[in-house]
Amino acid sequence: MHNITITHQCGCVKRSGLEIETSIVSKDDALMKALDMKNIMNEKFCGKHNFDITEDKENFLISFAAKAPASSSCCGGTSC
Ligand SMILES: [Zn+2]
Repeated sequence: MHNITITHQCGCVKRSGLEIETSIVSKDDALMKALDMKNIMNEKFCGKHNFDITEDKENFLISFAAKAPASSSCCGGTSC
């Protein structure tokens, strides 16, 4: 059994009616479903967050994607 769990939930997740946790027998099906859910979330949600899938042994977690670092290695200020 493979679980798909939405680990980071903004208001859109609750409004969307998506299952927070889904169990699927086949790992291939679970991955397909997780990809499906992730695409829906990235397309239909508020757009403030990006979602990404992480594989955790038998399970798939859908969580906020790490934001691309906004050139933080620069001067640390906003001037450059
Ligand atoms: Zn949202």
